[in-house]
Amino acid sequence: MDYVERVLKELKEKNPNEPEFHQAATEILNGLKPIVARHPEYEKLALLERFVEPERVVIFRVPWVDDAGMVRVNKGYRVQFNSAIGPYKGGLRFHPSVNLSIIKFLGLEQILKNSLTGLPIGGGKGGSDFDPKGKSDMEVMRFCQSFMTELCRHIGQDTDVPAGDIGVGGREIGYLFGQYKRIRDEHVGVLTGRGLSYGGSLARTEATGYGLVYMVEEALKCRGESLEGKTVVISGSGNVAIYACEKAQLLGAKVVAMYDSNGYVYDKNGIDLSVMKQLKEVERARIKEYANRVMGAEYHEGCKGIWNIPCDVALPCATQNEIDAESASALVKNGVKIVGEGANMPTTLEGIAVFRKAGVIFLPAKAANAGGVATSALEMAQSSSRMFWSFEEVDAKLKGIMVNIYRNMDEAAREYGVAGDYVAGANIAGFKKVADAMLAHGVV
Ligand code: NDP
Repeated sequence: MDYVERVLKELKEKNPNEPEFHQAATEILNGLKPIVARHPEYEKLALLERFVEPERVVIFRVPWVDDAGMVRVNKGYRVQFNSAIGPYKGGLRFHPSVNLSIIKFLGLEQILKNSLTGLPIGGGKGGSDFDPKGKSDMEVMRFCQSFMTELCRHIGQDTDVPAGDIGVGGREIGYLFGQYKRIRDEHVGVLTGRGLSYGGSLARTEATGYGLVYMVEEALKCRGESLEGKTVVISGSGNVAIYACEKAQLLGAKVVAMYDSNGYVYDKNGIDLSVMKQLKEVERARIKEYANRVMGAEYHEGCKGIWNIPCDVALPCATQNEIDAESASALVKNGVKIVGEGANMPTTLEGIAVFRKAGVIFLPAKAANAGGVATSALEMAQSSSRMFWSFEEVDAKLKGIMVNIYRNMDEAAREYGVAGDYVAGANIAGFKKVADAMLAHGVV
């Protein structure tokens, strides 16, 4: 059994009942095989075993009081995965599905994603099984305050800098920051995605979606094409999806479908983003309402059907494992040319295999959605220097970073004999820097 196979086998034995973590580790370690083959010293130094074991995992109780006066209890998590190249950095997810497996898969991915940005940030992730949906602002605030009361002793601007993710947007970051500041008496860049009035960065809200589309455009440009006139399907209707839609439209594409966890809308005339933003960002309404407000738009219950809609570009921007082999086959049958992952691990291993076999350009999440964390690192730089950059300045840096990531993963794939395999290219390009730093630090 080779080194990678052995590490994967041991990882599954030591961490049973963590399917998402197994899935992410399998994708990553298989992608690293070409680089591992060139570095036999990795095995002697147990580099992969150390890489897949978090430096620290914190699990804590989060008690809070709902509007009816009842005490509720949720689980809180922070996985501080790897700090070889910088302080831990990665979002907080509030969603009922959150468990240790999901946080560990996200944390492992985050290490390589952060490395790919070229900025000095390590990998971490956290969250809770709390569901902000249907809760009042005051309930969300009391939950966030309780969550931060524990979390604040583990994080810091030079230690661990969380941000948003599913269920954690501007409102939640505000409450979390307020509680951190109150307990620690420090007004510092300990969280990113902050509001503009208290240290946030312009373009952070747009960054993940815009960055995704910048990378798609670059991949098309390298093949003599562009997004102009292309038909796009986007899953999700949250932060990443909305700003991917905005940038795709600005570049001349037609986005015909989006979804939330109940169902999808198909709008053959192209999504009216002002209506979508009003529903999702202002009213926190269900996407079904879009079809009541926009003439000609159709609503369909359930999510899976969205991948049967013919498109040139598919941008999964909601959650993990949205595209399985069946959905990937439907996309291929309808002529999809390029898939850019806005969400983390939205395509199953079997789905990726379908795209690979069909020669679809596949931009994996750790590269394609790195624009959010890259801009978070730019927010940290602005906080530390007490400077505030213009939207154009941050957006230009973001675009430069995304183009660079694309070129680096493309080059790494060529260098290691797997040209066009961006899953391997991204894993190798991200891992090399982390591995070099870990080796330099000795056995730690
Ligand atoms: P949001 O909470 O803003 O939006 C999430 C969207 O996905 C919502 O439309 C939500 O629908 C939908 N969704 C969530 N779970 C499911 C599900 N099980 N089935 C169907 N739809 C679902 O999150 P973000 O936009 O911030 O994050 C989306 C993805 O992008 C995540 O994978 C996240 O990890 C990743 N990401 C986010 C970054 C960021 O900067 N925000 C950075 C990098 C990656 P509903 O409202 O009905 O729940």
